[in-house]
Amino acid sequence: MPLVTMRQLLDEAAKGGYGVGAFNVNDMEQIQAIMMAARQTKSPVIAQASRGARAFAEDLYLFKLIQAAAELNPDIPIAMHQDHGNSFETCKSAIALGYTSVMMDGSLKEDGKTPSTFDENVDVTRRVVDYAHERGVTVEGEIGVLGGVEDGHGAGGSGLEHITDPDQAVEFAERTGVDALAIAIGTSHGAYKFNKKPDGSVLKMDVLIAIHKRLPQTHLVMHGSSSVPKELQDIVNEYGGKLKQTWGVPVEEIQLGIRNGVRKINVDTDNRLAITGAIRKVFAESPEKFDPRDYLKPAREAMAKVVAARMTEFGQAGHAGDYAPIPISEMAAGYKSGSLDPRPSLAGTR
Ligand SMILES: [Zn+2]
Repeated sequence: MPLVTMRQLLDEAAKGGYGVGAFNVNDMEQIQAIMMAARQTKSPVIAQASRGARAFAEDLYLFKLIQAAAELNPDIPIAMHQDHGNSFETCKSAIALGYTSVMMDGSLKEDGKTPSTFDENVDVTRRVVDYAHERGVTVEGEIGVLGGVEDGHGAGGSGLEHITDPDQAVEFAERTGVDALAIAIGTSHGAYKFNKKPDGSVLKMDVLIAIHKRLPQTHLVMHGSSSVPKELQDIVNEYGGKLKQTWGVPVEEIQLGIRNGVRKINVDTDNRLAITGAIRKVFAESPEKFDPRDYLKPAREAMAKVVAARMTEFGQAGHAGDYAPIPISEMAAGYKSGSLDPRPSLAGTR
């Protein structure tokens, strides 16, 4: 199957009332793990690459791996997404490679660290939307600023410093025309999200629900949404790791989000922990081994297990065969004619 656009994949998720995990890819084993899980659970797939991943793997290696996944799995819709594009140029280069979706994270300036103004965010996101939609490509924007840093991207600090204002979310969706909107509700990138099990004082699900009420047609995105389960932390530490105990976003909170408009859930840390735990275990138990396949195979299996669990918990399992891909040229025509225009003021007029 050719790659599908993320817009189609999320529209289908909205129709079916489920969420779709977006899993980061840096190398062959990670895309293989995602596809193993997708085959096992019959799930549609969002694979995403950060700027760091594109630099690490080199653009062409990484994109060809995704194309291989699509060729080897003709029954599974796959969207390839640029995670946290920092500039128009980053998004443009992803589209040139063949990515079917880009995130323009204009909540930060191009350095990927300094929070931008609302108008700066609107301007750069609108520019990316114009360029991408002309080519049928999906755009995710972000309003509010997440905590933490991942792959050198992020404002740092806790997730509570720049919570999304629902009024601004509405204005942003209207002025930019983004297909999907990442919001800041207290989550952070990286492993250290919360220092205790999060409650309503640190994880603002009430803000998410308020935004969904105002923007019922907009696909919402939760970033920094690994659950960081204790079992995965424990495996790493049992075999020589030194992680401080930490809490992620509980799956039941994500499921509450999915009942309130969340269609894309970004998960990376859990996979990193699963991979590292599996590799440490082999190193600790069989120090005589030195063939990388001896530890990359269990690492790949450990990640596939986490991904399959998330796919099931988010509800995307069983939905891979629901639809045929809409060609990207047809998506471009839909944006041009207005039939796919996602601006909230047009909701119900199509
Ligand atoms: Zn993110």
